[in-house]
Amino acid sequence: MNVGLSPETEEAIRSRIAYFRDLGVFDFYRRVTVSAGFAPGDPLKGTETVTERATPTGSVAVIVTEENPAAAHPTVLSSDEDLETVPPMPRAQPLPVLTEPTTPVAPEDRAAALAAIRSEIGDCTRCALHKGRHTVVFGDGDPNARLMFVGEGPGADEDAQGLPFVGRAGQLLNNMIAAMGLRRDQVYIANIVKCRPPQNRVPEPVEANTCAPFLFRQIDVIRPEVIVALGSTAATYLLGGKSPLAALRGRIHHARGSKLIVTYHPAYLLRDPRQKKEAWADLQLAMAELGLPAPAKSQ
Ligand code: URA
Repeated sequence: MNVGLSPETEEAIRSRIAYFRDLGVFDFYRRVTVSAGFAPGDPLKGTETVTERATPTGSVAVIVTEENPAAAHPTVLSSDEDLETVPPMPRAQPLPVLTEPTTPVAPEDRAAALAAIRSEIGDCTRCALHKGRHTVVFGDGDPNARLMFVGEGPGADEDAQGLPFVGRAGQLLNNMIAAMGLRRDQVYIANIVKCRPPQNRVPEPVEANTCAPFLFRQIDVIRPEVIVALGSTAATYLLGGKSPLAALRGRIHHARGSKLIVTYHPAYLLRDPRQKKEAWADLQLAMAELGLPAPAKSQ
């Protein structure tokens, strides 16, 4: 059955899924009592909790409702075609183990080394994302940055301008960087995928795994002391496996020879500004690792 959803309903569902993803819930299963799409303006109504279970492809949901406690042991659904009986899918395969960082590049050669990676990417058609993109968004900033931010993938503004984080989320990221006492041109900013996913959806594993090796090479060239992963997608591919964001925040991880700190994606903070305090705590952890002074308290 192919359920035709209105654009408003699709947007409401997309936004709700993004919200849960930012909370660290990645996999969703269809509520078994629901046989069609959600009514426009009434997305996922009712008392519900979301359970997490990994699938190889990511993104389906189970909403456990009070009226349907049986959904606590859900049947995994792979598509809108299969709403009734589909056997459980196997658990997700671990993501590929990242190769070790390559030989260090001298600071004065880093700009050229990054330019060489950019030219190797070329007018990329390695994955399906190229079909909808206008620009490959390579990355931006200081090739010798001590601090690097990694997001998920370009949005519409980034796709138009060819630069990461230049839209609304980018403005918030700029403010976060400024709050750390840094200028944007002192850090390096990049994404897991360099081409905009359609409707800003989460990159598919095949897309991320195709593109991320170029990011890893950028990291190997820049050798930042600290990487801040912005949101679940960045954390997943930098760490080589999925965990809830809540379990990753507040401590130091390591990726490709750099310290890695995980925080909320700025787009999530725009949707839920109450979490900015938590994000600031994460950024302060990064500042402490970099030996940056805590900002003076305003009067
Ligand atoms: N969101 C991202 O993850 N990256 C960008 O560059 C812009 C928005």
